[in-house]
Amino acid sequence: MTTLTHKTIHHHIGGQDIPASSARTAPVFDPATGQVQAEVLLADARDVDRAVKTARAAFGDWQDVSLTGRARIMFAFRELVAEHVDELARIVSSEHGKVFSDAKGEVIRGQEVVEYACGLPQLLKGEYSDQVSTDVDAYSFRQPLGVCTGITPFNFPVMVPMWMHPIAIAAGNTFVLKPSERDPSASNLIAELYAEAGLPDGVFNVVHGDKVAVDALLDHPDVDAVSFVGSTPIAKYVYERANASGKRVQALGGAKNHAIVMPDADLEFTANHLTAAGYGSAGQRCMAISVVVAVGDVAEPLIARLREKALEVKVGPGLEPDSEMGPVITAQARDRIRGYIEQGAAAGAELIVDGRELHGEGDGFWVGPTLFDKVPTDASIYTDEIFGPVLAVVRVASLEEGIELINRNPYANGTAIFTGSGQAARTFQRNVHVGMIGVNVPIPVPMAFYSFGGWKDSLFGDHHIHGPEGIRFYTRGKAITTRWPQDAQDRTHHSQHMHFPTAV
Ligand code: NAD
Repeated sequence: MTTLTHKTIHHHIGGQDIPASSARTAPVFDPATGQVQAEVLLADARDVDRAVKTARAAFGDWQDVSLTGRARIMFAFRELVAEHVDELARIVSSEHGKVFSDAKGEVIRGQEVVEYACGLPQLLKGEYSDQVSTDVDAYSFRQPLGVCTGITPFNFPVMVPMWMHPIAIAAGNTFVLKPSERDPSASNLIAELYAEAGLPDGVFNVVHGDKVAVDALLDHPDVDAVSFVGSTPIAKYVYERANASGKRVQALGGAKNHAIVMPDADLEFTANHLTAAGYGSAGQRCMAISVVVAVGDVAEPLIARLREKALEVKVGPGLEPDSEMGPVITAQARDRIRGYIEQGAAAGAELIVDGRELHGEGDGFWVGPTLFDKVPTDASIYTDEIFGPVLAVVRVASLEEGIELINRNPYANGTAIFTGSGQAARTFQRNVHVGMIGVNVPIPVPMAFYSFGGWKDSLFGDHHIHGPEGIRFYTRGKAITTRWPQDAQDRTHHSQHMHFPTAV
């Protein structure tokens, strides 16, 4: 009998790939073949404790490194990420399944956050007020929190962690990343690139794992802040548990993003963009469009085009140059999505393109682009986040009805409108209760110098992620009031004021 041995993916703590206390592992698949390609260690509470203690020990010196010193390391890290874009994208594509060009796109969007973090010396500047009272000045500045942790989803294994660690680290914190156990390898390469850039050991650490590792991080007394991105039920759980143990927490959850299509929209442009936004990355994006809201008589011609384009999408392994859409992440995800397609048809929605009919190569986790029309809003394909290549068209009579539909949905991550009317776009952007809005832009992911975040069940916490809100999240403010008495008269005069201080 032959025994296959796979590469083991280790934790990276204090600058080294270290052996773990826990011997538990999880398989890492190649979703295009369905084969196991590696085993990843799953940390227990002792492994997590080691990572957090290492990060705590590194914090003392790191917070004292000058702003310029920290920025220079970020500049060096930025260069290394840029040099390794292809290598990072290949790793992402092979473990996640998304096509190489898409994986490259996520690395570049992550790199943009590193570029933003290079400007921290400018962005962290405090305020100063001269003479707020006679001979009294006031100023403020912000300091790092300590040990910050990031718990991240499978669908963007480079970009989503990069929404967090460059800003946390540039601001003077140390960091423990717990990436998704489904595609863990890119995080270890990121740790190596940080080390090569000159980041001291222990400032950036990676622990791999599942719920056991997450719970250990949430309860650890030395963790000061938790950034989470993942599905809504886990986001809510993480938010409540981290809050209960007194930590600062931001927890971004799932999505059901609607795109309204107005009768005056450019139909060819709209159908192309909806096809890319619905089926790109096999629908496994928190900003994917999963519901198309067709207003008035736009429905028939729009659906005809969407059908044609869904059938044209080239589905294949992510590393093959011709592929436009890869497999989904696991066999369980494939079966769940196929189950939803069955439920949608049973609920009375019209199945226009059935992704179950796709027979991809080998044992890969394949589901093809799927299109439903006339979807009832109580069908599970409408109410649930499917996280697969399934577009559901709902027909409405007016823009107002479309906005009401969107505002009734508990998810509120992203949304878009396709229209030729500035007035319709303005009404939409002012009245829709959603965090990120696109006008003729189906995936309105904010640039690194804005902040990313949804409303309602798509984000628990007060801060959106990266950009200006990211800096606030990873720092806390101090306000200082100073006086330097000049002579004896000054000293006597001020000592006589027993009332609550007011400006004089
Ligand atoms: P997930 O919630 O299953 O996992 C996210 C993280 O939580 C992983 O690190 C995982 O190990 C951990 N985890 C899983 N189950 C846990 C449990 N019971 N207790 C504690 N920790 C647990 O999400 P996923 O399937 O990896 O990613 C897809 C989801 O992420 C989708 O819902 C998608 O919309 C969402 N997402 C949201 C955003 C956003 O910005 N709002 C961005 C990307 C992905």
